[in-house]
Amino acid sequence: MTRRRYLEDPYLDVCDAKVTAVDNGWLCLSDTIAYPGGGGQPADRLSLSAFGAERTVGDVKLDDEGNVWLLVGDDIPLGAFVTCRIDWAFRYTLMRHHALMHIVNTIAAQVYSGVQTGTQLGPERSRVDFRFPEFDRAWLPDFEAAVNDVIARDLPISSSLITEAEFRARPELIRTKNVMPPVEDGCVRVVEIHGFDAQACGGTHVHSTQEVGRAVVAGYDNKGAENKRIYWVLAD
Ligand SMILES: [Zn+2]
Repeated sequence: MTRRRYLEDPYLDVCDAKVTAVDNGWLCLSDTIAYPGGGGQPADRLSLSAFGAERTVGDVKLDDEGNVWLLVGDDIPLGAFVTCRIDWAFRYTLMRHHALMHIVNTIAAQVYSGVQTGTQLGPERSRVDFRFPEFDRAWLPDFEAAVNDVIARDLPISSSLITEAEFRARPELIRTKNVMPPVEDGCVRVVEIHGFDAQACGGTHVHSTQEVGRAVVAGYDNKGAENKRIYWVLAD
C-alpha cells in the first residue's frame, strides 16, 4: 500500500519514492504527496523526476487497495527511485478552500439548518450546494460575516483517526448527505477545527483558520426550493 504522506503532513511539497508496480504507463509508488482527488477536492498537479529527466504527471488515482498511481508513460522501470514535486501554489490554495468549506458547511448547519448536498473546490472559486428548510439571498452578508468571524479566531486545524465503531456513534461527523467517508483498516479520518467543528474528511487542509484568508460570497444560484448553490472566493 502506498504511504500517503499528504495525510500525515499536507505541507510536504517534495518526496522521494520507489516504483513498486508499473501498468500500461501508470506507476505505483511506495510514498506519495500527491492527492488523488476526492471529496470535491481535485487531484494535485505534479512533476516526477527520474534518471535526471523531469516529466509532467498526467493523472493521479487511488485504487481500492490504497495504492496511489501516477500516469507518466512507459519508460520508468519497476524498482526505480523517483522524486515527485507537487504544484504547491495550486495545492495550497485548495487547502485554504477546503478548510473554508468546513467552516461554511458548519455555519450552514448551525445557523440555517442547512444540509450540504455537494461541493466542488477550485483554486479560483469553490461552490457548495445546500438543502435549507428556508433560505433568502438577503441572508448571505450575515452568512459571510459569520464565516469570517471563525476565520479570524485563528483556530487550529488537525486530523486524527477514530475507530469505525466511534464513527458510527457520531453521525454528526458525516457532513455531505448520502456520501459515506471511507473506512480504511477499521478507521475513519476526522478533521477538527478546534473549538468549532469536527467532520470526517480525507482531504488536505491548512493548519489554522487564519490561513484561509478573507472569504467572500461570489455568487448564488437558487436551483429549486431545496437546492441552493453558493460560490465562494478568497479575497487575499
Ligand atoms: Zn476536508
